[in-house]
Amino acid sequence: MTKTSGVELVTVPCLSDNYAFLVHDAASGQTALIDAPEAAPIQAALDARGWVLTDILLTHHHPDHVDGVDALRGQARVVGAAADAHRMPALDLAVVEGDTITVCGQKTDVIDVSGHTVGHIAFHMPGAALVFTADSLMAMGCGRLFEGTPAQMWDSLLKLRALPDETVVCSGHEYTLSNARFAQTLDPENQALKSRVTAITTARDAGQATVPSTLADEKQTNPFLRADDPAFKAVLGMSEARDVDVFAHVRAAKDKF
Ligand code: ZN
Ligand code: FE
Repeated sequence: MTKTSGVELVTVPCLSDNYAFLVHDAASGQTALIDAPEAAPIQAALDARGWVLTDILLTHHHPDHVDGVDALRGQARVVGAAADAHRMPALDLAVVEGDTITVCGQKTDVIDVSGHTVGHIAFHMPGAALVFTADSLMAMGCGRLFEGTPAQMWDSLLKLRALPDETVVCSGHEYTLSNARFAQTLDPENQALKSRVTAITTARDAGQATVPSTLADEKQTNPFLRADDPAFKAVLGMSEARDVDVFAHVRAAKDKF
């Protein structure tokens, strides 16, 4: 459990490698769930704390993010992207980029982060320094491009990278060790990467989650955020390439890793 300004954050492992998140505001008693991979572990986490869901925020339509919604919704308000409304459980509120909603007393900004899917959104709570990114920006990685183009994902990652360094990045899967091993094949001399790989390996050996992470760490070590970094481009032998082409190269290499 992490306490940020005013709200508590609980990470709930689901399925084989998914994460759902609970945000709780003690002052109002409100509780939000971000993504619903399956109901049972989320309901258990709620029951253990005596919390009742007031909001369910959905990032994208994939089953491993929405399958638990109908079993959990109760009286909660279900929020998701207008672009995905036709292929998601019923929404009470359909949102688009630029919308601001209030969740657990926190101003929450909707950011379009298409790429993994078209219509994937992230939820940013600037007052709590939290961003829920699911399968867009991930710990040392980013989601596979199932629907969007490299240009769409690169643009999405630039929006997320522009958030404050201290932002806690709550992503959707425990893929970090594989992501780290891939990052090291590209950039073996990166000292920040070396020390993060050590920390991640230790955490995983102890059965601990490596999600959430901080945006500051992602900026230094996530190869998908560094496609415009001249030093990284040079290491890849792509100094003259466009940023988006460097991103596309790294994403394609990860698909084959
Ligand atoms: Zn997905
Ligand atoms: Fe997923």
